[in-house]
Amino acid sequence: MPYQNILVAVDLGATTETVTRRAASLANQNNALLHVLHVIEPLAITYGGDIPMDFSAIQEEIQGQAKQQLDKLCSALSVPESNRHLVTGRPESEIPTRAKAVACDLIVVGTHARWGLSLLLGSTTDGVMHGAECDVLAVKVDAAT
Ligand code: AMP
Repeated sequence: MPYQNILVAVDLGATTETVTRRAASLANQNNALLHVLHVIEPLAITYGGDIPMDFSAIQEEIQGQAKQQLDKLCSALSVPESNRHLVTGRPESEIPTRAKAVACDLIVVGTHARWGLSLLLGSTTDGVMHGAECDVLAVKVDAAT
């Protein structure tokens, strides 16, 4: 059965183009709707609760820049506003949650070869595979970085 709703998760970094190109091509082949998601990690989580600082101004700036980048990417792919998703939280849990909320049947993410400590710590993609209730495609992105 063809996929109907594909969600691609993008970190808006160097590998985003490779991952979105693959997702867009799959959406095209399956005649599916394409959703694009970026998750903003709260600075309070990134730096822990130990530092008593107000991050709200920086967080707003990050949010604004992420929205601009997401809009640019989605406009180039002709993804409508309703299918552009910008949320705050941890990518490994927000990606499966949003995929379920918009009834996606395929999640597309990127994956790097990992060694040493990063292998022990696990990746976003591992977390997504664990939490997803639908298929997950992990696109190899090493050649692109
Ligand atoms: P990483 O574990 O950082 O190598 O990321 C692997 C893949 O997870 C990326 O190629 C994206 O598809 C997805 N990903 C990582 N971080 C984010 C994020 N903040 N928002 C959305 N997707 C992400």
